[in-house]
Amino acid sequence: MRTRFAPSPTGFLHVGGLRTALYSYLVAKQNKGKFLLRIEDTDQERSVPGAIENIVNTLHWAGIHPEEGVMVKNGVVVQEGSHGPYIQSERLELYRKYGEELLKSGNAYHCFCSPERLERMRNDQQARKVAPMYDRHCLSLTPEQVKEKIANGERPVLRMKIPRDEAVALDDEIRGTVVFQGITIDDQVLLKSDGFPTYHLANVVDDHLMDIDMVLRGEEWLSSTPKHLLLFRYLGWKHPRYAHVPLLLNKDRTKLSKRQNDVAAEHYREKGYLPEALVNFLALLGWNPGTTQEIFSLDELIEQFSLERVQKAGAVFDLTKLDWVQGQWMRKIPLAEFAERIRPLVAVKFSQASNDRDFETKAALVQERITFFNEAPEMLSFFYDKPKPTPVLLANEKQKVKQEDLPEILDTVIALCEGVPEKEWKKETLLETVKAKVGEGTWKLGQLLWPMRAALTGLPYSPGAVEVAEALGREESLERLATARSILG
Ligand code: GLU
Repeated sequence: MRTRFAPSPTGFLHVGGLRTALYSYLVAKQNKGKFLLRIEDTDQERSVPGAIENIVNTLHWAGIHPEEGVMVKNGVVVQEGSHGPYIQSERLELYRKYGEELLKSGNAYHCFCSPERLERMRNDQQARKVAPMYDRHCLSLTPEQVKEKIANGERPVLRMKIPRDEAVALDDEIRGTVVFQGITIDDQVLLKSDGFPTYHLANVVDDHLMDIDMVLRGEEWLSSTPKHLLLFRYLGWKHPRYAHVPLLLNKDRTKLSKRQNDVAAEHYREKGYLPEALVNFLALLGWNPGTTQEIFSLDELIEQFSLERVQKAGAVFDLTKLDWVQGQWMRKIPLAEFAERIRPLVAVKFSQASNDRDFETKAALVQERITFFNEAPEMLSFFYDKPKPTPVLLANEKQKVKQEDLPEILDTVIALCEGVPEKEWKKETLLETVKAKVGEGTWKLGQLLWPMRAALTGLPYSPGAVEVAEALGREESLERLATARSILG
């Protein structure tokens, strides 16, 4: 099984492109096949310098490593494999050769129509409300007329001759059978007057010469596929299988747009999404695993992905879901590794973090709640900044903590904590101690824990009281409780 990803180097890698690459990669890998990267740069005007490096690097970041085709090694674009070159602008001779063949077999013809004439034709068609299509003005030229025009210095394009009375059927892996009437298909330009091929000719020639077994691409290419099927037939080649993956949609179900969303994969990388999270999220955009599992590693995707479970309907790009998946992947990072990832970030704001021996215990508390690494300094700030609790913050209506009870409550909490010796200063012991007090019947659990937590952190929301107390240590905790008590008079 050989699959490929064939982006045009027009700038960044679109998230939809990354999903297509992922699906192609998964299909190749689960069949022990090969996934290759080809660069479709026949539209030279739209090619952007650095775009190839960008695409390759983003794929790598996502964990998708093509084993053939275009690669970047030591910062330089290289090509590897026996089916190269893999950059279309280096294959122009091949396209010309097959263009010639199509001309000879009568499946293509020269067209000399000027851009002005074509525009007039289109305007006229628009005015008559008919689909814009080449009117075959040049199809009737005799070989002699063509020769003469070329001798006169006119530079023709090569057009494909579509059988207008025929229907072309596609057996799509996702969409089933799709039938296109020849009458609706335009006589596509295959070679431009500058000798460059269009996407259609280059795509077909390359998918054949590169032995591609299955083409996975976005649904937006579906209408091009009958042209490709005809080209395969005209050239006497067996066509690959096709799978057109569903569009990505905005929340309002319009096509995913730059205006409503960021569509560059690298934007998500820069924002701090983990590659595992973005890949996991993209895999689920259109693919339904058929179980309740939602978190998948790349290896699990290779094992479980199947085209039969890819839907036809567009898939909504739901950022809330992406953040949830991201959070799940944050929790999966081993604690020691997580702590070392965030420590330098926290140290920028609080230098004490660099040699804080209890940093891991603190990190554990935020790992449960964090979405992005760069939230860590803020989330951990209460450990390094002394809290400034107020009576309003210490009280809590829902927990039935009245301001007038606070002195008594804090005295109780302080006495309880003082009773826990240093070596037993653990969240479990602390909780047991508080619960034992609750057992006496004067206070409810929340009435003790809420003020304790607020006194320790100075925040309305934070990890729980005993967890924070453990992470702060006995001395610091007692000091903070004493401070809170002192403001109450
Ligand atoms: N160059 C096309 C693109 O940019 C490739 C479409 C295909 O995979 O055939 O998406």
